[in-house]
Formats: sequence, C-alpha cells, structure tokens
Amino acid sequence: MLINSNAPDPLVLGVRMWPRAIPQFMIGHLDVLDSARTALSNDGFKGLFLGGNYVSGVALGRCVEGAYGIAAEVTDYLSKCIYR
Ligand SMILES: Cc1cc2nc3c(=O)[nH]c(=O)nc-3n(C[C@H](O)[C@H](O)[C@H](O)COP(=O)(O)OP(=O)(O)OC[C@H]3O[C@@H](n4cnc5c(N)ncnc54)[C@H](O)[C@@H]3O)c2cc1C
Repeated sequence: MLINSNAPDPLVLGVRMWPRAIPQFMIGHLDVLDSARTALSNDGFKGLFLGGNYVSGVALGRCVEGAYGIAAEVTDYLSKCIYR
C-alpha cells in the first residue's frame, strides 16, 4: 500500500523472469548432495569440493559462511597432501 494515497499508479517498464536463477531446495536435495559427494570421492575426485548457494543455502550470508567452511576443508586437504 502506498503511503501517498494520491500517488499515480506505478509504471511497469518491464519484468524479466529468470526461472532457474536461484537453486530450489526441493525435498531430497540434501540426499542428492550427499550422493554427489560420495560419487566424487568414490570416483577418485578427492580434492574437488562442492560449494555455492546450491550447497550452503541461497542467502548471501549463508554463501559466505559456506565458503569459510569449504576454505577450511581445502586447507585441511592441502596440508595433508603437502605433509604426506
Ligand atoms: C536477483 C537476485 C537478488 C538476490 N538478492 C539477495 C538478497 O537481497 N539477499 C541475499 O541474501 N541473497 C540474495 N540473492 C542470493 C545471493 O545473491 C546468491 O545466492 C549468492 O550470491 C550466490 O553465491 P554463489 O557464490 O553461490 O554464486 P555466484 O555469486 O553466482 O558466484 C558464482 C561465480 O562463478 C562464476 N562462474 C560461473 N561459471 C564459471 C566457470 N565455468 N568458470 C569460472 N567462473 C565461473 C560466475 O561468474 C560467478 O562469479 C539474490 C540473488 C539474485 C539472483
């Protein structure tokens, strides 16, 4: 509701829909992620890490938190490679 009741109707210049812009966390999404991680590990892709809004959640803050978590995993992984 507009504060000014005498305001003219809004003018819509254009609307663009991006149906696949934001990942949708459907039922079973976490299981899919688990399967992907397991497949990567089983197929010899150790050192490949999944990250981004489809993993952490779409809110920017969650993406940043997720990135810190992945950075820690990568650091741990690399330190084991170096000192092995
Ligand atoms: C229109 C819109 C409004 C939003 N508003 C909000 C909001 O108000 N508040 C909020 O919390 N969240 C908001 N979000 C959600 C949030 O911004 C996103 O979920 C978040 O930015 C995603 O971060 P990401 O790192 O997963 O992906 P991205 O930010 O998309 O980063 C992925 C990066 O990878 C790069 N890339 C892609 N493919 C390749 C490749 N093959 N090689 C190299 N680089 C590649 C891309 O160029 C990009 O820089 C909004 C999202 C959209 C689309």
